[in-house]
Amino acid sequence: MQTKILLDENHLPSQWYNIIPDMPGPLAPVINPQTFKPVTPDDLAPIFPMAIIEQEVSSERWIDIPEAVRDIYRLWRPSPLFRAHRLEQALGTPARIYYKYEGVSPAGSHKPNTAIPQAYYNKIAGTKRIATETGAGQWGTSMALACQMFGLECTVYMVKVSFGQKPYRKSMMQLWGAEVLPSPSDRTNAGRAILAKDPNNLGSLGIAISEAVEDAATRADTCYALGSVLNHVCLHQTVIGLEAKEALALVGDYPDVVIGCHGGGSNFAGIAFPFAADKATGKDVRIVAMEPTSCPTLTKGVYAFDFGDTAQMAPIAKMYTLGHDFMPPGIHAGGLRYHGASPLVSQLVNAGVVEARAVPQTACFDAAVAFSRAEGIIPAPESSHAIRGAIDEALRAKEEGKEKTILFCLSGHGHVDMAAYDAYFSGGLEDFEYPEAAITESLKHLPKVAL
Ligand SMILES: *Cc1c(COP(=O)(O)O)cnc(C)c1O
Repeated sequence: MQTKILLDENHLPSQWYNIIPDMPGPLAPVINPQTFKPVTPDDLAPIFPMAIIEQEVSSERWIDIPEAVRDIYRLWRPSPLFRAHRLEQALGTPARIYYKYEGVSPAGSHKPNTAIPQAYYNKIAGTKRIATETGAGQWGTSMALACQMFGLECTVYMVKVSFGQKPYRKSMMQLWGAEVLPSPSDRTNAGRAILAKDPNNLGSLGIAISEAVEDAATRADTCYALGSVLNHVCLHQTVIGLEAKEALALVGDYPDVVIGCHGGGSNFAGIAFPFAADKATGKDVRIVAMEPTSCPTLTKGVYAFDFGDTAQMAPIAKMYTLGHDFMPPGIHAGGLRYHGASPLVSQLVNAGVVEARAVPQTACFDAAVAFSRAEGIIPAPESSHAIRGAIDEALRAKEEGKEKTILFCLSGHGHVDMAAYDAYFSGGLEDFEYPEAAITESLKHLPKVAL
């Protein structure tokens, strides 16, 4: 009864899978938020190295992973694929449940899978310094780690409320050599303008993005890095699904359903895209994205052009969106509170290749605790949404008396998020239903893109 299905290091993927050539139809253009014309490589050159800009629009199906990136991946990759025997027994399900565990990275999540190549491409392009933002801190820690490994300086604008509430993530970033600033800061025009109006402003991801982009755009030695949503980020994360597929083949299995949690779409893309490729060639596999009911982008949003950020500085993309000024309730899965979604994932949902489901946070914590008691690993609150999805599929298999194979991505561990579990056990966790009025209002403010 094999529990850990481990690939040897020489089975670390040598190429990422780029889904762009296999998409159902052409990609919608990305629009410059100032000119309202399609974004050109020149628009992006002040903030991204050219290799990243090229990956964003590449039509090559397979893209080589540089050896220097693979050398660092080897510190924790291939990540283990687990067969959840004990969870299956606890549920009494005939289903086989597998999970790909990304919490084994130094930062504790899947995010270093893209932080490492992003730092690498910046390094070889001559970038000296990265400016980025972080909300709860997972992306900031991953970028700090990656910059440390390639000898780049790193400045992280951390949403001020999290800077106060998540001191351990700040310590992790500092340990890996990054400078961490509470945002809004006095370092940028964007930050200073907000502080002048409201010195006690607690910040938001939108403000932090504006600060990091301004920092990168105004310094020749500095570039910007984003941890989700964009095509190149989804590309880098495909190591998750490629390894999972190979490990499953070792035990002669293939999933009937593939499940991931969805915030901006990167870990979901990572586990799902290599299977979506099979589906495009006729394979019968369901692919399900799990999101919170409090921020139901894929299930209740509209598929339309919208700004990537609240401040209307980021490019306009066609995606599922709740409106760029939608403010989701403060749930514990901070990484799932983005108003938009990856344009690639959005197009797949719209085309019916990917299904989406929304679940309330208490049901997710119920699932996380059941998982932890069976399997031991404490999941990140974000990952608990995927666990909920997997458990529901397993319970359905039990009801129907059907064997089936379920694969999900356990995107990270919850060691730095124990405050969320404290809230759960002290009964302080609330469910927020679909915030219909706020979404309706926000959807009135979508930009009008004439193509
Ligand atoms: C950031 C994060 C997420 C959400 O981001 P995606 O881009 O949707 O993957 C999910 N899980 C963990 C552990 C995270 O850190």
